[in-house]
Amino acid sequence: MKTSLRLLENVKAYIPPADFYRAELPTMPSPRGGGWRDGGLCVFHADNHAGSFRVNLETGAFCCFSCGAKGSDIIAFIQQRDGLSFPEALQQLADEWGM
Ligand SMILES: [Zn+2]
Repeated sequence: MKTSLRLLENVKAYIPPADFYRAELPTMPSPRGGGWRDGGLCVFHADNHAGSFRVNLETGAFCCFSCGAKGSDIIAFIQQRDGLSFPEALQQLADEWGM
């Protein structure tokens, strides 16, 4: 899994979580500053009332108080949202962000 580990290091260094969430969460209010922010509508359940979904713009962690979705980085976000394995999520991120 040498390739995957190298890709992981690149993905994490290459994609700032703030930029990632700005692109992936169209309903996220304009973020100011880092740390935990309102992520807008949760993408992990049929959310029609923003307020329970939080993202951390420094670490990429996310957490929904409504459906319980949570993870520690943007790779976990892609894995859970798109139902991908860890290597598949890495590959998708690398492709989407032109690495
Ligand atoms: Zn949710």
